[in-house]
Amino acid sequence: LAGCGKEKVVTRTDFALDTVITIAAYGQSDEGILKEPFNRIRELDNKLNAFSEDSEISKINAAAGQEPVVVSEDTFNAVKEGLEYSEKTGGAFDITIGPLVDLWKIEAPGEGVVPEQPAIDAAKAFVDYRKVVLDEAAHSVFLEEPGMKINLGAIAKGYIGDAVKAVLQSEGVERAIINLGGNVVLIGGKSNREPFTVSLEDPEDPLSNGSISDASTLGVLRERDNSIVTSGDYERYFIGPDGKRYHHILDPKTGYPAESGLHQVTVITDTSADADALSTAFFVMGLDQAMTYIRETEGIEAVFVTTDNRIVATKGMEDTFVFDEGNHGGQY
Ligand code: ADP
Ligand code: MG
Ligand code: MG
Repeated sequence: LAGCGKEKVVTRTDFALDTVITIAAYGQSDEGILKEPFNRIRELDNKLNAFSEDSEISKINAAAGQEPVVVSEDTFNAVKEGLEYSEKTGGAFDITIGPLVDLWKIEAPGEGVVPEQPAIDAAKAFVDYRKVVLDEAAHSVFLEEPGMKINLGAIAKGYIGDAVKAVLQSEGVERAIINLGGNVVLIGGKSNREPFTVSLEDPEDPLSNGSISDASTLGVLRERDNSIVTSGDYERYFIGPDGKRYHHILDPKTGYPAESGLHQVTVITDTSADADALSTAFFVMGLDQAMTYIRETEGIEAVFVTTDNRIVATKGMEDTFVFDEGNHGGQY
């Protein structure tokens, strides 16, 4: 009988991608099947991480303004997907954000200082996804201007989540939860009939890693086969001398942390690269523009928390998202 007896599951947690990664494969008893997925995570991190000097992304950046760099299929595809989202979002999401990320020292928020305006203007001038040249035949990437830098921080975990899903599926796994530091990817559901349940983190009571825990939450998502990715201004930030919160999602137009009236954005889509890129883009765009984007595109659901603590979920979430009682009061 369904639900009776303890279900077999193998789980492994590891630190990678600068966060905590957990993979739980249901209906499985051999822990060996989790080895290849974690190998794949490290392989992709080595290729895509702009902060490690010998990654392919760093090689592309080092050759900016000089020559195209031939890269692996993974790196080529990740850059290509990133460019597609840069185009679709009109540059709210821009994979050439690197010079601004480096200037703001986003990866080491403890060291954060507010840069001088001329430095922001100078870094911002290098940010332009339209100056990335892909050559499909050669599998090369070229940055037209010296000083340009790709940083895939806002899409890499999504891309890697999709890749891990593919590895697990090739191993015959039909039901799994992949959690890359809060980027969640689902294979199947809890059972054929039951979806997985995923708690949505409360931006006022954030968890340091992942979105599944007993801490205060906004509500519960009931989903299967898709990806759930959250971006927020509370993940990496520093408090400036003016008392303001300087967080890690930058507006390419201003060169400053985005101030669009949003506190948190969760996107639910079929693939995790989409959800990752769009959660970051929507954070930059703000609620109205994001809702317009969602209306004009198929297959995207989202839950927003505004800086004045309203929760707004897309209409399509009515069946799959239940607000916690007493939590801000949400609307669909
Ligand atoms: P997290 O890294 O916490 O999962 P995001 O997916 O929103 O959050 O990605 C934020 C990261 O992406 C930043 O740390 C930075 O490296 C990069 N980034 C910041 N702003 C942008 C932007 N407007 N477009 C593309 N990448 C960005
Ligand atoms: Mg993102
Ligand atoms: Mg993210």
